[in-house]
Amino acid sequence: MENENKPATSSNFIKNIIVEDLKNGKVDTIITRFPPEPNGYLHIGHAKSIVLNFELAKEFNGKTNLRFDDTNPVKEDIEFVESIKEDVKWLGFEWDGLFFASDYFEEMYNRAVLLIKKGKAYVDDLTAEEFRQIRGTLTEPGKESPYRSRSVEENLDLFERMRKGEFRDGEKVLRAKIDMSSPNITMRDPVIYRIAHAHHHNTGDQWCIYPMYDFAHPLEDAIEGITHSICTLEFEDHRPLYDWVIAECEMESVPRQYEFARLNLTNTVMSKRKLKQLVEEGHVDGWDDPRMPTVSGLRRRGYTPEAIRTFCREIGVARANSTVESSYLEHFIREDLKLKAPRTMGVVRPLKLVITNYPEGQVEWLDAEINPENEEMGMRQIPFSREIYIEQDDFMENPPAKYFRLFPGNEVRLKHAYFVKCTDVIKDENGNVTEIHCTYDPETKSGSGFTGRKVKGTIHWVDATHAVPAEFRLYEPLILDDQEDKDEEKTFLDLINPNSLEILHGFVEPNMSEAKAHDKFQFFRHGYFNVDPKHTTKDHLVFNLIASLKSSFDPKKK
Ligand code: ATP
Ligand code: MG
Repeated sequence: MENENKPATSSNFIKNIIVEDLKNGKVDTIITRFPPEPNGYLHIGHAKSIVLNFELAKEFNGKTNLRFDDTNPVKEDIEFVESIKEDVKWLGFEWDGLFFASDYFEEMYNRAVLLIKKGKAYVDDLTAEEFRQIRGTLTEPGKESPYRSRSVEENLDLFERMRKGEFRDGEKVLRAKIDMSSPNITMRDPVIYRIAHAHHHNTGDQWCIYPMYDFAHPLEDAIEGITHSICTLEFEDHRPLYDWVIAECEMESVPRQYEFARLNLTNTVMSKRKLKQLVEEGHVDGWDDPRMPTVSGLRRRGYTPEAIRTFCREIGVARANSTVESSYLEHFIREDLKLKAPRTMGVVRPLKLVITNYPEGQVEWLDAEINPENEEMGMRQIPFSREIYIEQDDFMENPPAKYFRLFPGNEVRLKHAYFVKCTDVIKDENGNVTEIHCTYDPETKSGSGFTGRKVKGTIHWVDATHAVPAEFRLYEPLILDDQEDKDEEKTFLDLINPNSLEILHGFVEPNMSEAKAHDKFQFFRHGYFNVDPKHTTKDHLVFNLIASLKSSFDPKKK
């Protein structure tokens, strides 16, 4: 990876803004933040935001905070806090400050009181439904709530009593008093505090009122001195409110919000709500199921931080929403593992092959390169003897035309070993092939320079007496069609691919008995595999398919 560990070099509109801001002396040091809500595990979309925020700051000698935007007590949990920290570190980033929005609750409360005192906020008794009725539409202005004209004193008193817990959830809210006829609906007196008698993972039962995102987020940014607050495009309409909160709350530091297009990927879902549903309803084996687009799922699948970072850089930062092919992500793990992953042979659907003219009890140790594309990795030795396993697919009793693998009378090359010719087919009483018999030609040993004749097929194999049993988990996309950006949300479960996981039991080379969790290999003719960290034990090896060898990604189509 030649561009590894170097920050993004390609230019993007946010970077251009930063360059200008530094040049004009608008800011001295840029400070960015990654602000996840701890209500789920991070996914590849978050990775895009992480790479952008951390690498921009790094490139300009700035800082990046990791801030948990934990203003919604009901859905948040410490388990998510821990997993997010782990994932950010694993992706290769170190935060400067680690903060919790909930640590600023007192300050936020004081700023809300300031708004009330300035006549810029009021306590409203309308229910959410009643307010919706008067809020107006894109084409019609809204009407004012009858509680909008409450006096400052009354508002101060009610807000304090909201804090003390005198009211039930939903009974009252605090609203910013802005403009009920604004063409931007976000500016029509948005709720800035709500009542929720709920236990909070950080503040416990200290609070029963919680600030809304649109009020809390700009304050969090200002408190931390964030200079460039980068978020996704849905928040573009919220920017005037962001600026209003900063100005009216009289924050000293003035952050600016910039929006970029969120990452959408084909053949998966990316909202935390949907991912959570997949986990809770048992459609997958946890948040880190290798089919999930979560960072922990990608890690368990066998993705490397390098591949994910390169992908995030290459997709770029735009202001128009688009959907990226998931095969594009795969392209980067192949590129990363090409030179790193040892080559090996594994048989996923075994068929016994007996070499009838090979001496019984004899074992040869054959030399093979660990990675022909990276000679520095050296050589390995593979045992070879009279009985081996080959792939069921590599034998056909009655093959179609152009089938160049084994069939009665045909000769193929065994990778790293000899030519073998099929002489007999052994079947059980039901007519199923249980074993095939071959003869080998000792002259044809790999590396011997044999040029006597050629064969069209080369197949892989594993020596039967030394083979280590292994489980292979083959994956296909979790979602059959791309559901993001469509409004038939309820049907994404109907689009789950019933064949997204196939479990097979086969054999691998004997040196694999030393493989450890997360070791990655390229199995000849199959693809890249990762040793599964969750299900592998000392006596039971489990391999996750990371990516097959063939790419369906067409670089021209990107
Ligand atoms: P979700 O809708 O999946 O729950 P979210 O936006 O609510 O995601 P947050 O935890 O609030 O999740 O996100 C933290 C940061 O990650 C935000 O700055 C958000 O803009 C960014 N982010 C989330 N999803 C994506 C995505 N698909 N592409 C790019 N950035 C994203
Ligand atoms: Mg969010």
